[in-house]
Amino acid sequence: MKAIVLTHTDLDHIAGLADLLEAFGPVPVAVHDAERNVITTGRPLRREFAVGHPNVENVTSLAEGRPFRAGTLQFEVLHTPGHSPGGVSLRIGDVVFTGDALFAGSIGRSDFSNSDPEALIQGIKTRLLTLPGDVVVYSGHGPATTIDEERRTNPFLS
Ligand SMILES: [Zn+2]
Repeated sequence: MKAIVLTHTDLDHIAGLADLLEAFGPVPVAVHDAERNVITTGRPLRREFAVGHPNVENVTSLAEGRPFRAGTLQFEVLHTPGHSPGGVSLRIGDVVFTGDALFAGSIGRSDFSNSDPEALIQGIKTRLLTLPGDVVVYSGHGPATTIDEERRTNPFLS
């Protein structure tokens, strides 16, 4: 089974969704329930950026603690909200995709009306910094890093 997996639904992360669905066919789009309505109703995630986008009908849920399987891949789903309510990080083996929660040397914005700065820090500390130090972090923006590197040097997490 193919699927399109979303870490969250900010416009710069879903702008290609229509093109992907056209290329792959109507494969399920996986998203956390807290942001499901963004892609099913076309309602924007942010009051601040009121840009609509097409509705998606074939949606499946990403939930903390429930592994998500697509084809031969199985992802561990870690709820890392705060940048957005349904933000998730996806771990597969020694790699984790953190969306806009954790970046190399930085963290996601949490100044939007539906952001939560404390939840962001809390989620990163409890879900990500507790992973093995050699896990490689691929974030939504910027270079790759590792959990150990961020534990030692990220100025937002000390
Ligand atoms: Zn974002």
